[in-house]
Amino acid sequence: MKGESPTTAPSGVEQIAIVGSGPAAWTAAIYAARAGLDPIVYEGAGSRTMIPGGQLMFTTDVENYPGFADGVGGIEMMAEFRRQALRFDTRVVTEDIVRVDLSERPFVLYTSEGDRVLAATMVIATGANARWLGVPGEERLAQSGGGVSACAVCDGALPHFRGQRLAVVGGGDSAMEEALYLTKFASEVLIVHRRDELRASQIMQDRARRSDRIRFLWNRVVVEVVGDEAISGLRLRDAVTGTEEELSVGGLFVAIGHTPNTGFLEGQIPLRENGYVLLPTPWRTETSVPGVFAAGDVMDDYYRQAVSAAGTGCMAALEAERFLAAGG
Ligand code: NAP
Repeated sequence: MKGESPTTAPSGVEQIAIVGSGPAAWTAAIYAARAGLDPIVYEGAGSRTMIPGGQLMFTTDVENYPGFADGVGGIEMMAEFRRQALRFDTRVVTEDIVRVDLSERPFVLYTSEGDRVLAATMVIATGANARWLGVPGEERLAQSGGGVSACAVCDGALPHFRGQRLAVVGGGDSAMEEALYLTKFASEVLIVHRRDELRASQIMQDRARRSDRIRFLWNRVVVEVVGDEAISGLRLRDAVTGTEEELSVGGLFVAIGHTPNTGFLEGQIPLRENGYVLLPTPWRTETSVPGVFAAGDVMDDYYRQAVSAAGTGCMAALEAERFLAAGG
């Protein structure tokens, strides 16, 4: 494919190495490439739970990304982002970065194939993984677009959820928010929580409790997602009595938190208490290490949208360009 070649920079030091392959990473690559920085992207080697392209690879239809008036498939969208980066001769390496040394410049990045890469600047855009329940039926129906999702804002408005009874699993702010959002489309929203007490903030709890379309199912653990082509129900176990029941639902939204992909940074860069990359300056993507920038879900536990991730990818590339121009 045009521009795709894992050769190292002629000087031996990359001007900008971008780690990740979601909207933030590809947008950073497009901006960096067009600025003449000859970016190299480590898009990830792929595993059972993580595939290059990130969270959007698990999204069937994206209907809220401006510019795609008729919607676009998540996989197709990421292929287009990647193709646009390649068009400007971005080099792409299908490997993970497993470790970094940011103690001096140039930074050192170690790949999953054992290569050592030197880089003057780095953009961390490795995203966050939605946590899944890990029960039978869940992964299959999430990947096939069969009515299992980890993002109500992304998928809730799809036609097949309208007028349905929908379940949200979780007891935190995300679960409350997703449930409230889904009341716009669902006939009823059931919040399935494994305890009898919520973790969500009082204000979010109050909002959810006030809704006449939301009902709570306490002390329930999902043990199976039932359905062939599409979800038809949930098998639930009562955490107190141990009895099982089947609940018929037309959709499941798993809202049990996200895990940012920062394992490869291991003590090299300050993180926030919740594990997301710390950005010390508002409206900047610079991290605490000069020359290292972070974009997208790896630093954002709040918006988590493709369009906001892409926006911060642009910011990271522009900041890296300015950092290099200033002799950084
Ligand atoms: P969270 O606060 O960590 O809550 C996760 C919820 O999922 C908990 O209730 C937990 O149950 C449950 N859970 C975890 N693993 C589970 C499993 N395997 N099976 C069943 N249930 C499981 O995550 P979050 O709600 O995504 O929120 C993350 C952060 O973002 C929080 O700081 C939150 O305040 C913030 N946030 C804020 C807003 C807002 O203000 N509008 C919206 C979204 C998120 P237990 O309670 O039993 O542990």
